[in-house]
Amino acid sequence: MLNIDVAKVPYIRTAVPGPKSIELLTEQGKYETASVTYPKSFPIGIKSMKDSVIEDVDGNLFIDWLTGISVLNLGYSEFIRDAVRAEMESTWHALEIPTEARIEFLKALRSSFPSNMQDYKTIFGISGADACETAVNLAHAVSGRDSYTIVFEGAYHGVSGGIIAATYESKYKAGNNSPGFKVIRSPYPGILWENYSVGDVIDYIQTAIRENSADSLLVEPVLGEGGYVVPPEGFLKALRKLCDENNIIMIVDEVQAGMGRTGKMWAFEYDGIKPDIVCAGKSVGGGIPMSLVYYRGDFDEKLPTPFHLGTYRANPLALAAGREVLKRTPAVLDSVKERGKYLLKAFSEIDSDVIAQVRGKGFMIGIELGKNGGPVDSNTMARYKKLLIENGIVMHTCGHYGNTFRFMGALNIDQKLLDTGVEIFEKVVRTKW
Ligand code: PMP
Repeated sequence: MLNIDVAKVPYIRTAVPGPKSIELLTEQGKYETASVTYPKSFPIGIKSMKDSVIEDVDGNLFIDWLTGISVLNLGYSEFIRDAVRAEMESTWHALEIPTEARIEFLKALRSSFPSNMQDYKTIFGISGADACETAVNLAHAVSGRDSYTIVFEGAYHGVSGGIIAATYESKYKAGNNSPGFKVIRSPYPGILWENYSVGDVIDYIQTAIRENSADSLLVEPVLGEGGYVVPPEGFLKALRKLCDENNIIMIVDEVQAGMGRTGKMWAFEYDGIKPDIVCAGKSVGGGIPMSLVYYRGDFDEKLPTPFHLGTYRANPLALAAGREVLKRTPAVLDSVKERGKYLLKAFSEIDSDVIAQVRGKGFMIGIELGKNGGPVDSNTMARYKKLLIENGIVMHTCGHYGNTFRFMGALNIDQKLLDTGVEIFEKVVRTKW
């Protein structure tokens, strides 16, 4: 791993991409599908990573505000590497046959949930899509009905077989023509340029379920790919009530907002609700692929064996890394809440006529760019993105119009990389073309 003085980050010594990065990107293009997405947004070749710093093959050092899309919530940490290394000494593939790391992980996972969710059980998966797909199948198995699932505008739950239907944007569906699960699509409250209140959304769903009966509802507590939209307070509570009154199983997708990202271990805790099913992924394996569904223990009675299958589920290395992440995340939650507020203020104070809205919770912060009463166009966004990486920040965008920059730095990022990052971000969004 790199030995880095964060005071010297970012350090940009070549054009971006530099010559060695161009070489790797060109080679990749020869062998790998032309449909890769991330190298188009972040045109570098990676040499090494340490904590919240990425070194490219040309010797440039970037601030990592991407964290592999909220996968590396505790960065490229030595303690995760060491946990994986130690586990590697004993085993690295065990199917569902228990290992000590597996049991320790399951116990740590359960204790990360509120006290009224201690009788829940876990099904492991590989990806976020896998977890969300399993959660909806679980709801159908429990309800005994293959009926509709209520989902939302802006939602992203994955792009595989059934769950593709729950994901909102058609741009994500080009590679999968399957109709997927039957869904009722509701507006999501709090989206800029739209005007839905919590009451409007509840009315909308109530009307829709009179026509088509629903057995489940799948919701992100903060919209992730949909634009880092924080819904008005009480949204999840109102959904919980609606689910209780209509015998609907409530599934909360914490794949992106969970694992401390919003300053609480699980984002639904802000609303004090008790979901029936929770989906987790991304950071739950500390960067080694793993996902899971945490569900009401009494649902177990309704599940056949086998119910969900997959050779690679809960790999011992992912369990060891995840156990380390679960152990260390509680210690950073207060700082995420505090530094999240600091960042919200810092981004809000930037004097730029293209910032339309700054919003967020904890370290899930969206900076939406707009001009003349509408979103900034994609060409202008591409220019800002290019400038950001050229100035040493790896930062992604999201939202229906792709015009929201999203901060999703590691929860334990060095303060210096926040301060410097905000300065660079400010310089970039104040650029006049
Ligand atoms: N749910 C949410 C909220 C997500 O943000 C994502 C991925 N961005 C997924 C599900 C799907 O996860 P994966 O890409 O691991 O399938």
